[in-house]
Formats: sequence, structure tokens, C-alpha cells
Amino acid sequence: MATEHKETLGVNDAQWLGEYSQVHMNVFGTPLRVMDHGQGAHVWDVDGNEYLDFLAGIAVNSLGYAHPKWVQAVSEQAAKVAHVSNYFATKPQIELASKLVELAGAPEGSKVYFGNSGAEGNEAALKLAKLYGRTLPGALPSIGGKPARIIAMTNGFHGRTLGALSATWKPAIRKPFDPLLPGVEFVRPGDTVALHDAFAATGLGPYGKGPVAAVILELIQGEAGVKPLGAEYVKHVRELCDINHALLIIDEVQTGIGRTGAWFAFQREELSGGVKPDMVTFAKGVAGGFPMGGMIAFGGKLASLFTPGSHGSTFAGNPLGAAAALATLGVIEDENLVTNAEARGQQLREGIMATGNPLYVAVRGCGLLDAVELKHPCAHAVMNWCLERGLIVNAVRADALRFAPPLIVSEQDVDQALAILKDVPADLPND
Ligand SMILES: *Cc1c(COP(=O)(O)O)cnc(C)c1O
Repeated sequence: MATEHKETLGVNDAQWLGEYSQVHMNVFGTPLRVMDHGQGAHVWDVDGNEYLDFLAGIAVNSLGYAHPKWVQAVSEQAAKVAHVSNYFATKPQIELASKLVELAGAPEGSKVYFGNSGAEGNEAALKLAKLYGRTLPGALPSIGGKPARIIAMTNGFHGRTLGALSATWKPAIRKPFDPLLPGVEFVRPGDTVALHDAFAATGLGPYGKGPVAAVILELIQGEAGVKPLGAEYVKHVRELCDINHALLIIDEVQTGIGRTGAWFAFQREELSGGVKPDMVTFAKGVAGGFPMGGMIAFGGKLASLFTPGSHGSTFAGNPLGAAAALATLGVIEDENLVTNAEARGQQLREGIMATGNPLYVAVRGCGLLDAVELKHPCAHAVMNWCLERGLIVNAVRADALRFAPPLIVSEQDVDQALAILKDVPADLPND
């Protein structure tokens, strides 16, 4: 078991990190280690230290590291054709779009737009929502209409590009870039009065605002510390969207592709109340480590609002990424990893509370997107303590640790993580 204590950074790590700081912009703070290679749920740094990875590149490495089928698919595709531009199509891109529509259970006529990241998936969703908003009667300038609005949630996270950032709540990361996209408003999840008020502000005359084109939300707010919105509230949002002809965009960049014990979190009744989205965005886990993301528009009418010139990206739907994604989805299916996510998540959450460590107040999450709330705000110290003992966990907030292990994680891997988590001193210093 990897409980050997490594107090200091290895010499190779230290040397590479010194160079990193010389040539890489400091947007991520100092990286924890310089990683070299991985296998399954384990990854090694440049000093040869081994780590059991319970973050998986932030919910990206669905199959862990170097899964043979993923490596084979990517290698074969690279040897065949890696990129063609969107003047041409490729088989992997077509197969992947069809597979995603099927896994999402989206209705006849639903279509996919591919991008290269979560933010790009959300950019596409926001642009489609804007086009949709123009079709709403209250948005017609000729009769005194006003531009349609987007409602987003406080504590929501949708990415760092300017459009996605406009719908991202955290003031510290938004404010320096003001003014952002106009017409985005935030409501507090669970506050149904605020939601009603936001919709009710629509109207003609000097005080009326434009109609609401869309509500964008995560069913579990990942970056906010793995916080589910609650099925009742989500149902309420859907009802108000329906009454007001607004779209519901569910950002499944973090929750999607099996992570929560369903292909998409909206398919879990306890997270969504059974509601269906109008758009779903995906990225992180979809291609097992290859940069890939996108958006599914539910129904042909919505999907057809994008026409040639509406949107695009040089790399979008690139065959190498599509092959990586097809291999990832194939292995998740063949190895029953959606079921594994459910079982291992339960083992992890129950195991954490069963450690009896007084530091752990409560667990939350679904499948393999989980967090434990800490008795005092010492998450960074806990994260470092675990790292030195060979376990990667994430200090998502000062008072919470996040876990997002690869979907291939085994019962023994979870036991190993729990053995380390059990011994975390309850009196580590606060962040
Ligand atoms: C990570 C994340 C994003 C942004 O994805 P990037 O690939 O970093 O652009 C958007 N939404 C959610 C919910 C995320 O977790």
C-alpha cells in the first residue's frame, strides 16, 4: 500500500517546475508535480513516485491511463488520418455523433455540434440559445421587443472563454473581464421566488426586459464543491422554461459520460426529477483524455437553427478525437463502467464516513463524482498530505475534497484510497 511518506518534492520535479515557471504563464499556480506516465488508475511523476489518481485529470481520464483499447484506437486513427478540416467529413465523427444522440436518448432529429472543450460546448449552446431567443415574440425590435436573456445559477461554472465565462458565477474570475455578454442573470439554486421574478421581468415598456431564451445549469455543481441542485428545483426550472418558451441547457461537461452512474446525469431521477433538456453539453470524460467536447440539441427544430456560417471550429469533430471518444464509449459499455461508477462511488462515500475520522462531516455526490465536507477549512493541507502518501485528491473548496477517479477504478483501489483517507490527521492547518 502506498503509505510511504515523501516529505519533499523530488529533484527532477523541482528542476522541471523551476523551468515551468520561466516559460509558462502563471494561470494555474505552481503545479503539484510533473507527471511522466500512467497505467490504469496510477500515475508516476518524473522522480518515479507513484500515485493512485482519484482526480483523473478532473474527471477526464474515464478509462484511466494508457488503456490498451484507447491506445490502439488512437494509434490506428493517427496512422490513418488525424485531421481533414470541416470541408470534409470522416466516419469516426459521424459514428460518434450518432452514438452520443443514442446514449442521451435524444428524440428523432436531434443533432450534435462538436468542439474541443467544455467551454466550447457551452459557447455553442449559448449561441444556439441566442438564435432561438431571436425567434421569441418579445425579442422583436419592430414591436418594442428587447434582446432575449439567459438565466444562470449562482455558483455555476461553465468555462473560461468570454461567452461561457458570462454564465459562470464566481465574481473573482469574472470581474476582471467585465463587461461580459449582456443579458445574463444569476439566480440562486433552490430559490424559486428568484426564478419566478427573473422570468416575470419580461415585458414591453421601459421597465420590461427581453424574454428568457434559456436557463443554463449543472445538475451537480462540480466546481462549486459537488453540490446537487435538487430534483424538485430542477423540475421547477423545467416547468417555468416550458411556460415561458425558454430552453433548458444542462451542462454535463463534468457529470456526463457515465460519471454519475448514468450516461448523463439528467437520466438519474434523483438528480433531475426526470426532466429532459433541450441541449446537453459534454466534454471532460468523453474522449478519455483527448481534448473533445460539444453540444447535443434535442429535436430537429432546435438543431436546425444552426446553418452554414452560424458556428464552427477548425478542429471540431477531428477524426483523432472522435476515434478516441468512440474507443472510450465502447470500453465504458463493454466493461460496464457506468455500473462500476455507481458501485465504487457508493463504496467510497460509505467508506469515508466509516473511517470514523472526525475530520469528515458529510459526503455528497453521485457515482464517481463525490466530495467530503471537512470539519474545518483545511482541504489544501489534506490534499498535500494525501499526495505525499501517494493519493491524488482535489481541494475543490477550502472545506471540501473532491473525488473523481477513473471509471475503471477497482474495489481494491477504493480500499487503498480509504486506508490513506482514514489516517489524515484531523488537526491539519487551515488553508
Ligand atoms: C470543466 C467544466 C467546464 C469547462 O470545460 P473546459 O474543458 O475547461 O473548457 C464547463 N462546465 C463544467 C460543468 C465543467 O465542469
